[in-house]
Amino acid sequence: MTLSPARLRLEAALVPVKLPVAALMGNALSRRGTDVTATSAHRSALVLAPHPDDETLGSGATIMRKVDAGTDVAVVVITDGSTWPPDRPPAENIAVRDAELRASCRILGLPDEAVIHLSFPETRLHTAGDTLVDAVADAVRTHTPDDVLVTSEADPHSDHAALGAAARRAVAGTGARLLAYPIWQWTRPRSWTRTLAAASPAETVSSDGYLDRKRTAIAVFHSQMSAAAGGDQHDGLRPGFLRHFAGPREMFFPVPTP
Ligand SMILES: [Zn+2]
Repeated sequence: MTLSPARLRLEAALVPVKLPVAALMGNALSRRGTDVTATSAHRSALVLAPHPDDETLGSGATIMRKVDAGTDVAVVVITDGSTWPPDRPPAENIAVRDAELRASCRILGLPDEAVIHLSFPETRLHTAGDTLVDAVADAVRTHTPDDVLVTSEADPHSDHAALGAAARRAVAGTGARLLAYPIWQWTRPRSWTRTLAAASPAETVSSDGYLDRKRTAIAVFHSQMSAAAGGDQHDGLRPGFLRHFAGPREMFFPVPTP
């Protein structure tokens, strides 16, 4: 479906209204979540990120707690990051964002060999079909994690939603738990509602003692914070958006798998 120019203008006009409502909803869900900080640290995890930065934003403190507890963690980033920011050549974006990913993960305590980049084309995950499901299933078979952390099918970004859907199919029958972390839900009230409809109430992990390092790890992704990358706009990695990932806890929604 293509939206008419009038509808696009209306949607854009509503963004400043949606942002504070989405923030209120997210903060309420976070406060009401069940604190699983102690048990989470000892559950091995495969963290699936659609783009370089989602793993750090959504689960940076959770990753650090696991690493500090000696628990196995691997990060698999699915897309190559070639399209963003749009004013740069794709090859430059791929190189810069891969370097940012590895630098950020080192701050989280992950060695380079625990960070895998699958290099699917960015913005095209909704067309990847079974290829994406098979790639995720391979990673789950290789790492046999207790938990798979991934973006939600209800995330408004199409790459994030496609990965959430593929992970649900790939994790089914493996015995791993599937836990969805929110990213762009912080900009869209309706996507919080859809996240809840598709999952159980949130489990939370405290960021206490890890926030300074998490902020440092997020700051590494400077390519995504420039004006050209939307860093000064409502849908970019602007300071008001990043604030949601430097709060007192991280949130994970348990997703039922068939
Ligand atoms: Zn992303």
